Amino acid sequence: MNKIYNCHTHVFNIENAPEKFLSGFVGKFVSWFAWPILNIGIGAYMMIKLLKLFKNRPILQKYASFLKVGTMKSQLNIFKDLKSFYNPDDHIVILSLNMDYMGAGKAKHNYKQQIHEIKRIKAHYPDTCLPFYSIDPRAGSPGELLSEARQHLKKKGFVGIKIYPALGYYPFDPGLEEVYKWASDKKVPIMTHCTKVGSYYLGDITAEMINPNSFVGQALNWPNKFDKVSFPITENLKKKKEFCDNFSHLYNYARVLEKYPDLKICFAHAGDDVGIKEAKSGNSNNSWFTHIKYLMQTYQNVYTDISYTLVNKKIHKDLYELLIDKDIGHKVLFGTDYFMTLRDKSEAKLKSEFMTFLIQQDTKIDLWDKLANKNPKQYLTSNFYNANL
Ligand SMILES: [Zn+2]
Repeated sequence: MNKIYNCHTHVFNIENAPEKFLSGFVGKFVSWFAWPILNIGIGAYMMIKLLKLFKNRPILQKYASFLKVGTMKSQLNIFKDLKSFYNPDDHIVILSLNMDYMGAGKAKHNYKQQIHEIKRIKAHYPDTCLPFYSIDPRAGSPGELLSEARQHLKKKGFVGIKIYPALGYYPFDPGLEEVYKWASDKKVPIMTHCTKVGSYYLGDITAEMINPNSFVGQALNWPNKFDKVSFPITENLKKKKEFCDNFSHLYNYARVLEKYPDLKICFAHAGDDVGIKEAKSGNSNNSWFTHIKYLMQTYQNVYTDISYTLVNKKIHKDLYELLIDKDIGHKVLFGTDYFMTLRDKSEAKLKSEFMTFLIQQDTKIDLWDKLANKNPKQYLTSNFYNANL
């Protein structure tokens, strides 16, 4: 069997995450009592014990394994746990995340420290570990961002760029243009988080966010029937979570892609299971799954991954159809979103369930190999990293 490439995982631990970040994943109630306990020396141990005591509270139980991994001593420990579910010659993309500007308070270790530790993982596992460098336009001048990204890909073994607009910026932020131009030129893969769930910006909404600067014009190719974002934004100002959907909206990427049509970018999670259901329910023009498919059909280097979404067995058939699509099936990638997924399923189960499902389908081509080897190799190969060697 060919080597597996898991294109979407995370290994940051609680020390890398700001205080309010946790509530996005485990809910306000759990995070309210978990945070103070987790931040003391034996906190993680106590937490697991405590969760066991609450056996009759399934909501707490559900988070036990998630918290167990998230509170491991270091990112290296988490990576070792993840790696234990794979063969020694498989490859694992780890997505770093700059959480310094998301308005969630200060983390014990800031983004620089997170990256420092990822370099240690890379040094331990140079072939297995394929890190992505996280870029945030608020973290420096456009020139500084480009030089950081370039340095990490050229010299530190990083293989791609991660962006996460829901943390408080738009994909068309003028601060990102230099990075896009360079990435497009060097075929560097970009990974972006793209669902209406997940963590989001928690600070105050600024005038700039309502009426932002942009380095691109309107997306003239965007179909009229599709939903889009109009600026200045006048709605959703009260509900921050909903407001943050404006950051990630696919229309904003369509504007970027009209200027940089060769950009190699993966929209993570395939619009998630909600978007997939929406696409089938007659609300198709508002579905992010529909929008992602449209961008994949229109631009040759637009990809999607099935991470997290594969948790839901009910949509396995839809993911299969995406993978066999003759126009875009070669741009669908395997990923799990470890360890976010531990709230729902173990890594072993997540991987084997979907692999078995694909093998059971009656097709002439090896779909698992296409999803987990062939497609990822094409996505990850750039001027700095050759997955075919
Ligand atoms: Zn993720």
